[in-house]
Amino acid sequence: MNDFSGITIALSKGRIFEETLPLLAVAGITPAENPEQSRKLIIGTNRADVRVVIVRASDVPTYVQYGAADLGIAGKDVLLEHDGVGIYQPLDLKIARCRMCVAVAEGFDYQAHVQRGARLRVATKYIKTAREHFAAKGVHVDLIKLYGSMELAPLAGLADAIVDVVSSGNTLKANKLVAVEDICLISSRLIVNQAALKLKREMLQPVIEAFVRAVA
Ligand code: AMP
Repeated sequence: MNDFSGITIALSKGRIFEETLPLLAVAGITPAENPEQSRKLIIGTNRADVRVVIVRASDVPTYVQYGAADLGIAGKDVLLEHDGVGIYQPLDLKIARCRMCVAVAEGFDYQAHVQRGARLRVATKYIKTAREHFAAKGVHVDLIKLYGSMELAPLAGLADAIVDVVSSGNTLKANKLVAVEDICLISSRLIVNQAALKLKREMLQPVIEAFVRAVA
């Protein structure tokens, strides 16, 4: 547990931070700085008892799991890869929406490969999600872990397919890739450290309720 006696909220820069600002506003919380402009990793707010820590999107569940943050906002894509231990997930914030897809290079006949029972090479950052998806379909795959720019993998001959999140589809199109299968819908969720919810309930409850109102 962190030794800040107030509330620590873990957020990632970019889309999640921007789309969380209006939700924080409903809870009467305004961050003092924009992480895009500041290099600070701990940002104060208009409330002395609330601070924000800026972490990589995939690290948000870890900060909340170990109580270094009481609250966090993380994409379902990230949460699916995490074991979820010690984390309570009370609310779909319906922000940063996209879908998790299987995509291949234009001209690659994915369905024919699947029907033939061919072994596919799949590159992804989302190993657990991909493993579960292909196992449920009975498709044999070799998974290759990547940390970024998955779109390059089929073009460079590293993999037959990728599993990635798709929003507008512009990135796929620009790289001559096509989505061939949807795995699930993704949006960001509020996550809460389970111990903090008990120990700091009086402080956390109004913030959680404000998020519920903001989403409604
Ligand atoms: P797109 O709008 O489909 O061109 O999205 C471009 C890239 O942004 C995708 O390849 C993803 O890596 C990333 N992306 C888009 N939406 C999200 C989201 N909601 N959460 C995480 N990453 C996203």
